[in-house]
Amino acid sequence: MFHSLSIAETLTQLRSDEANGLTLIDIQTRLREYGENVLPEKRKKHWILTFIGYFKDVLVLILLAAAAFSFFIGEIKDGTVVLVIIVANALMGFFQEKKADNAIAALKKLSVGCAKVIRNGELAVIETKLLVPGDIILIENGDKIPADARLIEAVYLKVSESALTGESKPVEKTVHPIAGESIPLGDRVNMVYKDTVALFGRGKAIVTATGVHTEMGQISELLQGQGEKVTLLKRELNRVGKGLTIFAIAAALLIFVSILLSDASYLKDAILTAISLAVAVVPEGIPAVVTTVLAISVARLAHHRAIVRKLEAVETLGSASCILTDKTGTLTKNEMEVSDIYLDQRYVRVSGTRFEENNQQIDPKTDKRLSWLIYCSVLCNDAKFSGTDTTVGDPTEACLIQMARQAGFDVENIRTEYKRIFEIPFSSETKRMTVVVEGPDGRMFAFTKGACESVCEYLKGANQAHSGASEQLAANGIRNLVYSCKELIGDRVAFEDEGDLYKDHEYLGTIGSKDPLRPEVKGAVSLAESAGVKTVMITGDHKLIATDIGRELGIVTRNGQVIDGSDLETMSEADLLSALKDIRVFSRMSPQQKLRIVAATMKSGETVIVTGDGVNDAPAIKMADIGVAMGISGTDVAKEAADMVLQDDNYSTIVEAIKQGRGIFNNFIKFLKYQISSNISGVLIIFPLTILGFPIPLLPVHILLLNLVSETGPCIALGLEKPEGNIMQTKPRKKNEPLLTKARWYRIGFESILLASAGIIIFFVALKTTPAAAVSATLVTAFLSRLWHALNARSETLSIFSRYLQPNAGLYYTVGGTLIFLYLAIYTSVGNALTKTVPLNWSLLIMSFLLSLIPVIGVEMYKMYLRKNSALQRAESS
Ligand code: ATP
Repeated sequence: MFHSLSIAETLTQLRSDEANGLTLIDIQTRLREYGENVLPEKRKKHWILTFIGYFKDVLVLILLAAAAFSFFIGEIKDGTVVLVIIVANALMGFFQEKKADNAIAALKKLSVGCAKVIRNGELAVIETKLLVPGDIILIENGDKIPADARLIEAVYLKVSESALTGESKPVEKTVHPIAGESIPLGDRVNMVYKDTVALFGRGKAIVTATGVHTEMGQISELLQGQGEKVTLLKRELNRVGKGLTIFAIAAALLIFVSILLSDASYLKDAILTAISLAVAVVPEGIPAVVTTVLAISVARLAHHRAIVRKLEAVETLGSASCILTDKTGTLTKNEMEVSDIYLDQRYVRVSGTRFEENNQQIDPKTDKRLSWLIYCSVLCNDAKFSGTDTTVGDPTEACLIQMARQAGFDVENIRTEYKRIFEIPFSSETKRMTVVVEGPDGRMFAFTKGACESVCEYLKGANQAHSGASEQLAANGIRNLVYSCKELIGDRVAFEDEGDLYKDHEYLGTIGSKDPLRPEVKGAVSLAESAGVKTVMITGDHKLIATDIGRELGIVTRNGQVIDGSDLETMSEADLLSALKDIRVFSRMSPQQKLRIVAATMKSGETVIVTGDGVNDAPAIKMADIGVAMGISGTDVAKEAADMVLQDDNYSTIVEAIKQGRGIFNNFIKFLKYQISSNISGVLIIFPLTILGFPIPLLPVHILLLNLVSETGPCIALGLEKPEGNIMQTKPRKKNEPLLTKARWYRIGFESILLASAGIIIFFVALKTTPAAAVSATLVTAFLSRLWHALNARSETLSIFSRYLQPNAGLYYTVGGTLIFLYLAIYTSVGNALTKTVPLNWSLLIMSFLLSLIPVIGVEMYKMYLRKNSALQRAESS
């Protein structure tokens, strides 16, 4: 039990070294011995069980019974065809599910966890799964702990272990051994456990267990039982499915009775027709299509660098109306570079290795004041070099060690010379960081760096001049931090009490760095604006910098008003709500204030996307309709809380995701409308004709074929349509608007009638030839009209020929494939025998074709009317 051992004993037992970590040979042998640091995957259902699952549907069971009935009464061919169709349906669903699984599995690989580890004497960032016992890991606030480990350093480290112990209060960690073997996990405060999260401070630890051997590994079996969340979409689909099933059963019963009434000798036909019709109406293929479409859409979003963690987000994206974004890294590049240094009345310009004062190059190493400031910036800093030139850590800090190196200083040497003995980590609330270091001669110094007002407030003497310099830099869009120092004289300081460590400091200087706007963001902001999605910037940065960036983006309102953290403090709820109507920039906001703005914006009726990266952003990310975390700069805590993670931290990715999200939502509507109207049209053809005593216009086999061939292929193809070209010129969908609104149900009704009328008319026309020809012509017309209708369904308002529709190869292949199938069914003898059809003569074929265009022409006219109407409305409102 490692918690009861001292640090030295733990290191010996695990044969590791605190400073250098493991060697490459150690790592390889241990990886072989302990395996990868992963928890067991959820056991997969055997494929046979998945396949059998497709036969469990009540309607399919009824159909199986119907096939058995056909065999029983000697209709071997009928029974066989029905069986083949059932199996083909199941196979299609099965393969789609596989495809969806593969897409999701590929997505999982994109979001691999990383750990900071010291190996072979060097700091490296590796995939969490490659950790082995004995590895020395570094933990920072916001990290998900990658393995079970014994702490060897803990600086204010607080860890939330609720995932493991259920305890919601964060646990304060220490490094001292704890006696006793059977101490509960929650009390082993010198240990950290896999998949718990560090909320504050930092630490260093030696890995004691990985993968299945971790505490989380022991209980992961229990966690596997947790079911999937039912999304809004699934709930709605279930509702639609239920409604249609009831409709199907009622229609089937009515048809059964009406066939029997017309001729009692039709019992067999009545049973088969009624059953196949019921099966054809119920869109039992929808769940499989939805899973496939969702999985592939999510993979597409990933291709656009937005990783969806919760499927609901895909549905909500389309209704997003407001993006509350932070600035650093999302709107700006977060590739900071020191550009300006202010040293009490002295200005130094920095450009790479060149330091200039009054246009004269200076050597920072020989400039006492400047070098002491650089020492402070290196010591009061957690960023590190990894390898020769890359840095690990916060970019705000990373640019400082880069600057020190470019000035000719050896960062590692400074840190060895001045050992850090205490620190108060940076937090977004205090907006500063303090460290205590002990120099080579035993003198101790407290260094602080942070936002101007957070440091200047505690300076000795007047500080207006320094604040002025800081403001001036900020006014030029230069992000800057103020540095200060005091020597700690007297006895060793009681560090447990932070006391006055950051107070009564001497001012050292101000270092400014440029963080340019990402070039693509401006376009993305105006694209979002034209799509009815407003951008609001909430930043922890200075008001002047926020204003500068806001102006560049064109989101600062005409009177240039920006709300600062101190302004917000004095605002009432009502003030805030009314300010939200036109204020788009909020500066110097603390995480609590950010949360307040998120809540108020949601209250005002917007569907809100919130971005964030820090531990303190997690509540706002969680609260938002869609929480978005940064993939690069984001902490694990923020990512865990998020619905979506941006792989490139880029604001434009959010706007692209909204576009894709709208497209996906529309696609669901498209294929649902297509499928339901097609299915209902089947009933509308058969029902009136049989009631009126005409022969059955479509045989059971035909209904099933129509169901099989015209359902899955076009539905998936429609579900994967690329977003319409003008999708970002429309307003966002209303919050919680259902997929199938009343208006859409009316439209489904209208389209079903058009589809059915084509079938009914051709039936009467062909009946003059022979009843068999009438049935075949009805089948051909039903097939063709559904094909054209699929093209029709690509947009609710745009014409089939609109230039805004992107090519959809899948749909074209489906149309082509169906036409070939139809040819084989009608014009080959085998096809005729199997599908119970007869070849159509030329005139019937042409008639079938022409009549099959009825739905297209009808819907095109209706779309034209809709377009004209909305243009009129636009003209009237402008
Ligand atoms: P955004 O909220 O848009 O990401 P931000 O990075 O400026 O912007 P915070 O991280 O909350 O927001 O930081 C707030 C302020 O604290 C910064 O403007 C800066 O002045 C100061 N600051 C940021 N990082 C550090 C740090 N590592 N050490 C000391 N002070 C810092």
